[in-house]
Amino acid sequence: MAEDCVFCRIIAGTEPASIVHDDESCLAFMILRPIREGAFIVIPKVHIDHFTDLPDDLAAHLMIIAQRYGRGLLSLTPATRIGYVVHGFGVPHAHLNVVPQHDTFDIISARYIDADAPYRVTERLIEPPSRAALDAMAARLRAARD
Ligand SMILES: [Zn+2]
Repeated sequence: MAEDCVFCRIIAGTEPASIVHDDESCLAFMILRPIREGAFIVIPKVHIDHFTDLPDDLAAHLMIIAQRYGRGLLSLTPATRIGYVVHGFGVPHAHLNVVPQHDTFDIISARYIDADAPYRVTERLIEPPSRAALDAMAARLRAARD
């Protein structure tokens, strides 16, 4: 556990989160500023910064959990595909982003933007859902898990 890590504090229960899944080795919870409704992340309970440093079996477990809830997520939202992203930025604690995709632009590189500089890409454009809405979606995901 790293005291200065918000994900470690969520694991410890000292930081709020809308929990989707909790087991011995991983935790899944709703993203505060989701690209699309229902986006969540899966993290290992051990504090490891880089996803590529995870032991193979733990990395595979995170993907299996993402799959089980991802299938339910597809049925709960207008998404046509579920995307998985490990970008490694933001919180320095490995995390797998599970993103309901409505179209090809829900996961994209800023390098594709055809605009005169400067432009900015920021999650602050996304209004965070209420905690009640995040808790409700977490409950729907748990119920839809296969
Ligand atoms: Zn951590």
